[in-house]
Amino acid sequence: GGGLVAYSDAKPDSGMNAITSTEAKPHNGTNVIPSSEADGKKKRVVVLGTGWAGTSFLKNLKNSSYDVQVISPRNYFAFTPLLPSVTCGTVEPRSIVEPIRNIVRKKSVDVHYWEAECFKIDADNKKVYCRSNLTTDLNGEEEFSVDYDYLVIAIGARANTFNIPGVAENCHFLKEIEDAQRIRRTVIDCFERASLPSITDEERKKILHFVVIGGGPTGVEFAAELHDYVNEDLVKLYPKAKDLVKITLLEATDHILNMFDKRITAFAEEKFQRDGIDVKTGAMVVKVSDKEISTKEVKNGGNIYSMPYGMAVWSTGIGTRPVIMNFMKQIGQPNRRALATDEWLRVEGSDSIYALGDCATINQRKVMEDICAIFRKADKDNSGTLTANEFQEVLDDICERYPQVGLYLKQKQKNSLVDLLKDSKADVVKESVEVNLEEFTVALSQVDSQMKNLPATAQVAAQQGSYLADCFNRMEKCEKNPEGPLRFRGEGRHRFRPFRYKHFGQFAPLGGEQTAAQLPGDLVSIGYSSQWLWYSVYASKLVSWRTRALVISDWGRRFIFGRDSSGI
Ligand code: FAD
Repeated sequence: GGGLVAYSDAKPDSGMNAITSTEAKPHNGTNVIPSSEADGKKKRVVVLGTGWAGTSFLKNLKNSSYDVQVISPRNYFAFTPLLPSVTCGTVEPRSIVEPIRNIVRKKSVDVHYWEAECFKIDADNKKVYCRSNLTTDLNGEEEFSVDYDYLVIAIGARANTFNIPGVAENCHFLKEIEDAQRIRRTVIDCFERASLPSITDEERKKILHFVVIGGGPTGVEFAAELHDYVNEDLVKLYPKAKDLVKITLLEATDHILNMFDKRITAFAEEKFQRDGIDVKTGAMVVKVSDKEISTKEVKNGGNIYSMPYGMAVWSTGIGTRPVIMNFMKQIGQPNRRALATDEWLRVEGSDSIYALGDCATINQRKVMEDICAIFRKADKDNSGTLTANEFQEVLDDICERYPQVGLYLKQKQKNSLVDLLKDSKADVVKESVEVNLEEFTVALSQVDSQMKNLPATAQVAAQQGSYLADCFNRMEKCEKNPEGPLRFRGEGRHRFRPFRYKHFGQFAPLGGEQTAAQLPGDLVSIGYSSQWLWYSVYASKLVSWRTRALVISDWGRRFIFGRDSSGI
C-alpha cells in the first residue's frame, strides 16, 4: 500500500538515495535493493513522464497488483492541442492542465508521484536515477534512484533546433505551458514597445514583425491564432500598429502542412495569402541573431537573405531528449531519433522496459524481417512459391499482426500485397497467384523503405498508453494461462496482440473560425462546420470535467469579451 515506498537512511554506492520497499531493509549500509521480485511483493512499475502516453497508461491501469511510481518534472498533464490557443489568451493555461495527483487519486492501484526528472536509466541493474527539479534547499539530497521491475518510458521529445546557430538563444518554442505563457507576454511586450514615443516607424515595423518558423500544424495554427488576436483584439487597442504589424511564416519545403491532403495545403496557403500572412516556402533558416533571421532561399539560387524581427517562434519538429540518447548508446541503438521498440512497445533487447509516445518508434525493419520469416515458414514444401490460398492466409495474418503494414497499404489504397508486388515487378502469375519468395523479399524491402513511422502525435501516444495498460492489466492472468491464440505464442513473442493504431483524423485550425479536417477514408472538410467539429472533439477529449468546463467557459468569454491583452 502507501507505505511501500521509503527514502532509506543509508546511501547507496553512488551516494544517492534509493527508493525501495520499506520491508526491504538496506544491507550493510547499501540500499540498492530490488524490491518486489526479491520479497515476492507487488511488482513495481516505474512510469517516466506525465504527458499523453504516461497519463493514458495511468488512467487505464486497473490491476491493483502493481506498485506504481510516477516520475516527472511536471506534476500535471497538459492538453497540448490547445497550447496555441494559450499563446493568445483564447484559453487560459490553467484550463488545459490537470494535476497528476488528481488523475491518479481515485484509482484502486497504488500510485505514487515524485516531482523529478530521470537523468539516467540503468537497464542492467533495473534502476533509474532521478533529480528533483525543485529549487528549495534539499541539502544536496535532491538526487535519488528508484528500482523497478517494469519501466515505462514516456518522456516525450524536446524541440529540435537542428543546431542552427542562435535558435536556442533567440527563438521561442511552443512545447510546454510556460512556452505559451512566455509567447503571450512577448506579443504584448512587442505592442507596448512599439507604442513608446521615442521609437521610429522603422523600428516599430521591426518590433511588430512576428516570424513563425515551421509550416507544420503547430506553426500554422499559431500563425493563424496570432493573426486573429492581432486583427480582432489588438488593433482596437493599438490603432497605430495596424499598418505596421506583419506575420511571416517560413517553411523549408515547397508547401506548408505537407503531411495533409493537397486540398488542405492549397486552401491554407490561399487563406493565409488573403489574410496577409506572408508565407515564404523554400526558405531554410540558417542563423538567428537577436535582431535578424537569415534564410537560404532555394528558389533564389540558394542566396542568403536576412530579415529583422521582433519575435520569432520556432516550430520545426522534435528531437531526442539527452537521457534517451544516453540510454540508446547504452543498449546499442545509437544514431536514432527515438527508441526502437517491437510492436508490443518493448524496447528492443530489454524485456522489462517499454517505451511509448514521442520518445519511441516501432522498428519497421524488424517487422519486415519478421514478415519475410512468416512467408518462408508458410512455404512448407520449400518450393519458393505459395499457392493462392496460402498466400491469402499469410496476408490476413500479416495484416492482423502488423497493423503498420495494413496502414501503409490503406494509405496507398491497395487492396492486397499482390498489387504491391505487381508494382515492384515481382514475378506474380496473375491467374494462379504464385508468389516467388525471393522476389517477394526484395519487394518487401522496398516497402520497408517507403513505410513511414507512426506520426508523433497525442493520438498515437494516448492509444499506446491505453494499449500498454491493458497488457499490464491482463499480464498476471496471461502468465497463469499462457495458452493464448496460437499465433501469439512461440519464440520471442509477447503474450498479447501487437499494438495497432487507429487513425481518427487530424485537424488544422486556420483562423477566422475556419478549420481543415482530414478524416479517415480520405475525407476532407474545410470551413466553419469543421471549426465546430474541432470545438466538440477537443471539448470531449479534455482530461476531466473540470478542464472541460474551464475551456468551454474560456471560449464563451472570448466570444463575448474578446481576448485579454494585459500581458500577464
Ligand atoms: P509529452 O506529452 O511531451 O509528455 C512527456 C512527459 O515527460 C512530460 O510530462 C514531461 O514533463 C516528462 N519528462 C520530460 N523529461 C523527463 C525526464 N527526464 N524524466 C521524467 N519525465 C520527463 N498531437 C495531436 O495528436 N493533435 C494535436 O492537435 C496536437 N497539437 C499539438 C500542439 C502543440 C503546440 C504541441 C507541442 C504538440 C501537439 N501535438 C498534437 C503532439 C502531442 O502533444 C505529442 O505527440 C504528445 O504530447 C506526445 O506525448 P508523450 O506522452 O510522448 O510526450
